[in-house]
Amino acid sequence: MNKFWNKYKINIIIYLAVAAILSATLFVGNILTRALSLRPTMPNNDITSVHIVDVGQASCTLVHFATGEDLIIDSGSASSNKKLISYINNVFFLHGDKTFEYAILTHSDSDHCGNFSYILNNYKVSVFYRPNIISTLAGESAEIGEAYIDSENYVYADVIKALNAHNNVQVVKNKADLQIKNNDITLLTMYSPEYDVYDNVNDYSPVMVLGDNNLKVCITGDASKNIENFVVNSYDLPDIDVLVLGHHGSNTSSSYEFLEALQPERVAISVGKNSYGHPSTETFDTLNLYDTNYIKHTLTSKNMTISDGNIIFYSTNDGYEVITIKNIDNYLHADYWVLVVISYGVLLIFFVRPIKRSSRRYSKNS
Ligand SMILES: [Zn+2]
Repeated sequence: MNKFWNKYKINIIIYLAVAAILSATLFVGNILTRALSLRPTMPNNDITSVHIVDVGQASCTLVHFATGEDLIIDSGSASSNKKLISYINNVFFLHGDKTFEYAILTHSDSDHCGNFSYILNNYKVSVFYRPNIISTLAGESAEIGEAYIDSENYVYADVIKALNAHNNVQVVKNKADLQIKNNDITLLTMYSPEYDVYDNVNDYSPVMVLGDNNLKVCITGDASKNIENFVVNSYDLPDIDVLVLGHHGSNTSSSYEFLEALQPERVAISVGKNSYGHPSTETFDTLNLYDTNYIKHTLTSKNMTISDGNIIFYSTNDGYEVITIKNIDNYLHADYWVLVVISYGVLLIFFVRPIKRSSRRYSKNS
């Protein structure tokens, strides 16, 4: 043992030193990363924030209420799983308890329900609001005339199967006049669907207004102008701050009358590369018309938020603010690079030493 120690003493000490320095640099790097706060600064947990997540040609909105509850409305398509889960874990739930008190699926299209089976299997969901669309593939049955049957949709069937598998999740059907409340505070109101059955699957999407006194946001899924008309004619709608344009900005939604009734200050569109022509020029014409007559100044980027990234609206003391994050991955990589640069920097200093020492040894021998 002594022989071994004497022979390898220097090597063992060097290896232990390398291990110690490496651990220390990683530790320091980690602390520095947090201290430099390279992650985007998020609104506090005690205010309302609405995140329109960049899931490409699809739809997903995350809402944190000042009262503490978290809500997910639609879940994008399965192809955006990595992007969405990264956003949920690294931004939305950074300081949260990783529980969705509420989840709302507007309708059965795969660009809205694509990640809900993943969400149900990997997060705690307390109440799940679903459309009155029956999936026979998931083993559901309904009397004819009671519900729309989405018979070929495997993505939707997987969501219904996941819901059936998690019997601790309370399931509620979307319906006009339904409200989500925290004691006396109304967090969300549904103004549609009025009927149990619609010919157009998009029309199952509820028209919803959510938020608090400083930030009111209207989301309509893919509901058509027929549904917008019903809502305008049946309800005294509140003035809102932000409208997420229906059906990805398609000309089948966002009627002039609907804009006029809601008086949104800003408009956001959840849209990506697509072959449907979303968002349509007709919708922009309507927006221009609405703006000229009702906001009384020209449509500018101030009032219309279109971003190639994630859009976050959050309440302030006297109104609301908006932040956009182009690419969430850049922030995550920034953390990683700080670690690499710090570790590598310290390692370089460390490696300079043995080289010096060995050169000294050479000079001794010579
Ligand atoms: Zn859609």
